[in-house]
Order: sequence, then structure tokens, then C-alpha cells
Amino acid sequence: MSALMSDPTLVVLVWASLAAFAAGLGVVPRLVRGSLSRGALGWANALAAGLMLGVAYLLLTDGLGEAYWAGSAGAAVGVGAVILIRRLLGTAELDLNALRHAGPEYGYQVMLVNTVHAAFEGVAIGAAMSVSTPFGISTALALAIHNVPEGMVLTEILHGRGVRTLHAATLAVAANLNQVLVAVVTFALVSAAPAAQPWALGIAVGSLLQLVLAELLPESYHQAGHTSIALVALLAMGMVVGLAGVGP
Ligand SMILES: [Zn+2]
Repeated sequence: MSALMSDPTLVVLVWASLAAFAAGLGVVPRLVRGSLSRGALGWANALAAGLMLGVAYLLLTDGLGEAYWAGSAGAAVGVGAVILIRRLLGTAELDLNALRHAGPEYGYQVMLVNTVHAAFEGVAIGAAMSVSTPFGISTALALAIHNVPEGMVLTEILHGRGVRTLHAATLAVAANLNQVLVAVVTFALVSAAPAAQPWALGIAVGSLLQLVLAELLPESYHQAGHTSIALVALLAMGMVVGLAGVGP
């Protein structure tokens, strides 16, 4: 096993898979407490947003180093890619947390949004792994934890559409599986062409920030008070940055 884990691509595969499967744990609050309140969904969105902000901050400060220009250009590509894909898919104006009164196509649209969202986080894992294995693992771990509240919101929406709880958990994992493929491909590309590393890190930072601003925070403000959303997001971000500071 240790010989296998010395293969860096396998390390990426294992940790990205762990992050993807963590999304299934989002079903636990529903199993324990039943239906979740709107406020709880807002805080789940804020928690996920804060963890993503923490990851973006670390990719910028610990990952990018002094490759400012390529990193900035990559970030612009990341922001642009999120905006473009949302427009192309027709999901830019979609209410991502509609628990009722949604049309028959809404279920697949929300799955699509979550799948694209997870793909950009795959870029983050792959790019971080190319910086160093411990940095990649801490990034994958933070995104694994963030996949739990994101899975929580998704399973609640799917449950509202009549999907059974455990099926919803499976769908939450499925929406994140492409994260594994994208992480491995990003890692392989950057390993083969190291000059692409600041671009990959920049794309990850730009896309994470854009996803937080366009998808998670606007929804959360409809569900809970602005002050509590800001506090939860900032605390989550601070935890990621603070824990990275005490790491090896
Ligand atoms: Zn996310």
C-alpha cells in the first residue's frame, strides 16, 4: 500500500475521491434531524463559501509564489470560464435552492450546476497537488469538508423533488465524481508542463471566487441574515487559513 501511495498520481486520485465521496455525508443532518430549515441551508452555503475562500487564499499565497502575471491571467480565465459556462448552460439566473414550485427540468439543472462547480474544485486539488503533496492533501481535505454542506443543500433540494434520501446522497457523490477526473488531469498536465502551474493555480483561484460570489453567497442571503452569513463564511475561511498555518 505504501509503495502504491508513493505514486503521486494515485495520491491525487485517492484524495480527490475522498473529497467527492464526502458529499454523500451531506445527507446525515437530514437523517438525524429530518427536514432542514431555510436558515440551516443558508449557513451550509455560507460554510461552503468560507471554506472555498480559505482554499482560494492559500492557493494564492502558498501556491502561486511570485508568478503574479501568469497567476492573474489564469484567475481572469477562471472567472471568465465560470461566467461563460453558466451562460451557455442557461443556469446563470437559476434559483439554486428552490425547494418547491420548480419545473420538471429543475432537478437536472441543479445537478448540472453542481457538476460544473465540482469540476473547478478538481482544478484546485490538481493544481495544489502539483505544488506539493502535503499542500494538495490539505486542499483536498478542506474541499472534502466543504463538500459536506454543499451535499447537504443538494440532498435537501433533491428530497424536495421526491428523491429518496439515500438516492439523493448517491446523486450528491455522482455530481462530484468529475472532480476526481479533473484533479488527475490537471495534475498530469501541470506535471508534464510545469510552466502551466501558475495558470492552473490562477484558474482555480478565479473560478472558486466567482463560484462563491455567483452561486453560494447570493443564495445564502435569501435564507439567513446577512450578518450571520458573513460571520459563518469568515470563520470558515479563517479556520482553513489558520489550520494551514499550524501545519508542517
Ligand atoms: Zn464548492
